[in-house]
Amino acid sequence: QVCPGVWGCLCCGLTGLVGIAVRPARAAEPASAPAPALVADLVAANHILFDQGVVDGFGHVSVRHDKDPSRFLLSRSMAPALVQAGDIMEFELDGAPVGAAGRMPYLERFIHGAIYRARPDVMSVIHSHSTGVAGGAALRPVFHLAGFLGPETPVFEIRDVAGPATDLLVRSDALGDALARTLGGHAVVLMRGHGSTTVGTDVRQTVFRAVYAEVNARLQSDAQRLGPVTFLTTEEAAAAAQTGNGLVGRAWELWRIRTP
Ligand code: MN
Repeated sequence: QVCPGVWGCLCCGLTGLVGIAVRPARAAEPASAPAPALVADLVAANHILFDQGVVDGFGHVSVRHDKDPSRFLLSRSMAPALVQAGDIMEFELDGAPVGAAGRMPYLERFIHGAIYRARPDVMSVIHSHSTGVAGGAALRPVFHLAGFLGPETPVFEIRDVAGPATDLLVRSDALGDALARTLGGHAVVLMRGHGSTTVGTDVRQTVFRAVYAEVNARLQSDAQRLGPVTFLTTEEAAAAAQTGNGLVGRAWELWRIRTP
């Protein structure tokens, strides 16, 4: 009789135990296939974020897997504007790729997994190096469509957790955890000297937020050059964010037809 493996020790004693000891870790199986509409939205998000100037050759967008909340979907390492459905990979929340089939993952995939672990409400994550938000100054909402920023965005200082000599990239699960802690319950976290990360309850809302965080950064900078700025109050920001959630579809429809 051939020892069946894990339970083999019950029927053949030592042979089974040895079997357990020498068996290599089994590769994780992919979850059930994600809904095609979710993958289509993720591909579209990649293209829209480029079209709207949020990402360039760099930056990435993910969604939590609809069939398994302990997995997420993210393109292989490539320019977002060029992403197609076949480039979408599945990951565990520690950043381990599942069924990579030779495809190279993004170095900073840990940003996504750590945030999905820390924030069960988050269904999509966008990381970008967009010019408006990389300076390290906090963003504050100067107009209604950026109410989701809340009174002020947190700023992640990588030196506080990894010292003064990193390349600024979130290239480990531990750094991902540190970023997720700084994000806390906010929608956007700035990353000093690097970029920003935006979260939301679905990919369309998260794209909306990433686009308007960038618009707000430009408006904030322009407004501050003109004189003292009156920012939205905490209450105005909350109310405007609520209204904004109802407007996501209109913006998405427009952005969607502009991209192939
Ligand atoms: Mn980056």
